[in-house]
Formats: sequence, structure tokens, C-alpha cells
Amino acid sequence: MHPKETVGHREGARARIIRVGEKLVRRGLVHSCVGNLSVREGEGCIITATGAMLDELSDDALVTVSFADCPLTATASSDAPLHLAIYRETEAGAIVHTHSPYAVAESLISAQPLLISSDIECAGVLGGIPVVDASDDRAETISRCLNALHGHPALVIRGHGVVAIGRSIDEAFSMASFAEHACRVRYLTRFEVRGNSPRQ
Ligand SMILES: [Zn+2]
Repeated sequence: MHPKETVGHREGARARIIRVGEKLVRRGLVHSCVGNLSVREGEGCIITATGAMLDELSDDALVTVSFADCPLTATASSDAPLHLAIYRETEAGAIVHTHSPYAVAESLISAQPLLISSDIECAGVLGGIPVVDASDDRAETISRCLNALHGHPALVIRGHGVVAIGRSIDEAFSMASFAEHACRVRYLTRFEVRGNSPRQ
């Protein structure tokens, strides 16, 4: 679906993660120590460490994991299996996972399996945002996410947050931002002017 991001060298990829992590917090797409992001590298990826504050990332808070690692490095984000599965099954070059509030709210309010944006540009870019129900079985949740990413650059796990992919980490950041904006517009236009009736 997406051409792989060309990672010039290891430090470059790490610097990009640190820059985008700070942006995610500044834009209100994550808070506290939640969320994570990664960039494909070799037979795996570089991913943020578990519990890392995304606006305080340093080289120590970035972990290299590979498809062959079993078990995964303990310091890697607990979502590393999801990231690796996405890299294995798609052409994504980078992944951004946020806990952005309007996307989480819309996933809880709407019963629809696909959130359609009333914002024209978001609708054109995203083609709707699939809502994935998490399972107690992590492998099943990962499988559902992979299915949802076919044809969609961003999904929302119900009551949890957004997973967005891109050829580069900047594109993945943009997809996560589009998803949040789309859900914000949905939320703000929930009540029709006439009759004040809620829209599904
Ligand atoms: Zn999360």
C-alpha cells in the first residue's frame, strides 16, 4: 500500500521520532506517558520505550526490535507486537499511535464500524475511520487492526486511541491528525440545527 520509508541512517530515524513525539504532545494528540511511535528499520523497527513521555524522548527511550525477537525487548513499548505485525503485513514506513480525545470519544459514542467524516478534506484523505473493538486476545486485536488498515491509513481502537500509518513518520503523524480533526468535526456537528436530533 505504501512504499517503505527510506531510512538514511539510524540517527536520522531516531531524530525524526523525537521531533514527532514532541509534536504529538504539543498538538494534544497524546498526554502523559501514553501513545507510541515507530519507524521501520531493517527487519524490524525503532520504537519508543514503554512508559516514555513522548515530549521528553531521548536516544535512551528508543528501542530497536526485530521480527525475529522472541520475546521482545522488555523496554520496548507494549504495543511493539502490533507495530511489528503492521510492518510485516503492510508497506508502512512508520506508525503513530495516539490517544487523541475526539477520536476516542467518537469511537465510544458511535455504534458505526466506520466513522465517516463530514469534513470534506478528511473524508477524501482517510476514506472513513474504521473502529476496532479490542479483544482480550492480543493476537485477535492485532488481526482486526491489520484488516482495518486495508485501504485506510488510520483506525481507532474503541475507547482507546488511533493507530495511523504512513510512508514516513511525518505522513503517519498527518494521518493521525486528520483522524482527530475528522472526529472533532463529527463531534461538533453531532446535533442537527433543526430539531436538535442526534446524528448516528
Ligand atoms: Zn494506547
